[in-house]
Order: sequence, then C-alpha cells, then structure tokens
Amino acid sequence: MSLGWSRRAPVDTLVGTETAIDFAIPLVELPRVSHELTTRDGEARGHVRFSRQMGQAVADLEVNAQPEVVCQRCMQPMRWPVSLKSRVALVSDYDAADRVPEGMEVFLVEADSVSVRDLVDEEIMLALPNVPRHAEDSECAGRELRLPGQDVEPDETDDAQVQKPFAQLGELLKRK
Ligand SMILES: [Zn+2]
Repeated sequence: MSLGWSRRAPVDTLVGTETAIDFAIPLVELPRVSHELTTRDGEARGHVRFSRQMGQAVADLEVNAQPEVVCQRCMQPMRWPVSLKSRVALVSDYDAADRVPEGMEVFLVEADSVSVRDLVDEEIMLALPNVPRHAEDSECAGRELRLPGQDVEPDETDDAQVQKPFAQLGELLKRK
C-alpha cells in the first residue's frame, strides 16, 4: 500500500496492514511547526511504521530535522536540531489516552484517521522548547543586559523544558 505523507488514512487500515512510510516533508508544510520558523527551507526526514502493540494502535516514528527558530533572548535565528525516535499511541479520546501503556506518547486522532504530516508536526512541536535560546556560553548570553549592583537572578525558564504530551492533549480537547 502506497501512501503519501500528506494523506489522511484510517488508523485501522494503517495498523492492519502495518504500513511503513519513508518521508521527507518540507517544514513549511507542517501546520504548527511552520509558525515557529524563520526560513522556508528545511525538511523533516524520517520513517514511520504503524502496528498494534499490546492491543494499542501505535506509530513508531523516527524524525530528523533542523528547524530554524528565533532565539527569545537576542531575537536572532538559530537552528534547533531535532532527532527523535518515539512510539506514539494513536487514541481517539481522553479515556483511551488514560489507558496508554507507560513509555508511549499519545496522539489524539481525529475522526479515526491520521496523516504522517500531523504526527510529524506534533512530535517536532513537542521537541521544540517553549522558549528557545542560544546556549548559555554563546555570545548572545554574554550580551544580556545587567544593571550595576543588581543581583543576577537565576533563570526561571528551563532550556530543556518541553511541552508535555498530556498538557497538549488537554488543550486540544478544550478546543473541541
Ligand atoms: Zn540568542
């Protein structure tokens, strides 16, 4: 079965036939990731394979991408390399999300269908930090403004902070 990354297909079919797809998706084609970008170039490359594991429809996903986002300290563009490998449980509602075995991520499927584009978009969004910034030892960090006599406050935002899948899911459900 041949399936492009942009086409939505029923989860049952993808899982039942254990569909596997190699993809190279232009980052601008990813609905949410595209809003974070500073350039129109770049691709998300990888591989996905659908199957049923422990009674759960899953997608085993590998993605590599180098989205260019804006550093929130100096407002200059920066590459944020994303290289991930995850097992994503495809669920249709919040109750099902609750039953997902530990170690799997959760993806909320709309109308029992999914596209590789949607999956990749979600996974890259989860891998991007809420507040992207250049590393602490970079030139940009050195340019930070500090007033004389003022104590240096420890940074409250965590560089490694990523969005939690369930927080994301809660938001999605609220929007329905
Ligand atoms: Zn910076």
